[in-house]
Amino acid sequence: MKPAPFGYAKATSVEHAIALLGQYADARILAGGQSLIATLNMRLSAPKLLIDINGLDELRRIAVAGDWLEIGALVRHAEAERSPDVARHAPLIALALPHIAHPAIRNRGTIGGSIAYADPAAELPACLLVLGGELVVAGKAGKRTVKAEDFFKGLFETALAPGDVLTAVRLPVARADSRHAFAELARRHGDYALVGLAAAARVDGTTLRDVRLAFFGVGATAIRARTAEAAIAIGTDPLAALARDLDPQGDVQASAAAKRHLAGVLLRRVLAQLAEPRP
Ligand code: FAD
Repeated sequence: MKPAPFGYAKATSVEHAIALLGQYADARILAGGQSLIATLNMRLSAPKLLIDINGLDELRRIAVAGDWLEIGALVRHAEAERSPDVARHAPLIALALPHIAHPAIRNRGTIGGSIAYADPAAELPACLLVLGGELVVAGKAGKRTVKAEDFFKGLFETALAPGDVLTAVRLPVARADSRHAFAELARRHGDYALVGLAAAARVDGTTLRDVRLAFFGVGATAIRARTAEAAIAIGTDPLAALARDLDPQGDVQASAAAKRHLAGVLLRRVLAQLAEPRP
């Protein structure tokens, strides 16, 4: 299928993009286009104007500022995958990135696009939840920072308001006692996950503390498994507790029962990864 007719404008600055968004009732930001163009071609959406932000080099930086790693919204998945700063300061993101789609898509798709799109089976929202990440958003009223836990509102729904541009992701830099683990199950590597799990913790001697778990592919958004986390903290069985955290719906890929089972498999794998001694 071909998309419905649309206009095209190339933004020259974030302010210009915001101004263009304000001028047209039905305008959309075009980043890597890996999700947006597919939805246009399938006529799942028909915006009147696409605002191309690909020329905005200010959104393409990866930088460490104090205790935070900031990744610009236009950084491609492949660029983040190759970044020594991401590997060192956000190892969980480095673990997750190779699971996102296929190399050709990672060469164009952007970190900001994945987060703004908020697919329920996407890897990055779950990583942001367990890391305590923040999103930097520019809008008509200026810049604001939104915590990841307040950003993902529902199925493909975020705290971005009409006229907003996501400019960066901020992540607390990993510390010497930080531990991370990531696992997902997909029918083929690079497909969206059937079920996935991102985890972060601190290690105190040989004891894991402050274990944070976020599943994806099992609900409308990534989901913190707080009952399982609490079970780990008091030394009871997190697998038994998991049933209270997750209530997945079946989809074309797997039944609800299969997803519940796979979530348990991933929890065991991730806890084993977290407990592995570091070289
Ligand atoms: P675009 O497609 O350009 O935009 C997506 C949406 O976000 C649009 O609504 C756009 O207006 C909005 N948007 C983009 N950037 C901004 C911004 N800075 N501010 C405000 N709004 C913005 N993703 C995964 O996470 N995991 C997967 O396993 C996975 N598998 C895939 C498999 C296939 C075959 C394909 C085609 C895609 C897959 N993706 C997957 C999606 C891929 O990661 C996309 O790159 C990503 O979802 C969107 O990024 P983009 O830069 O291409 O955004």
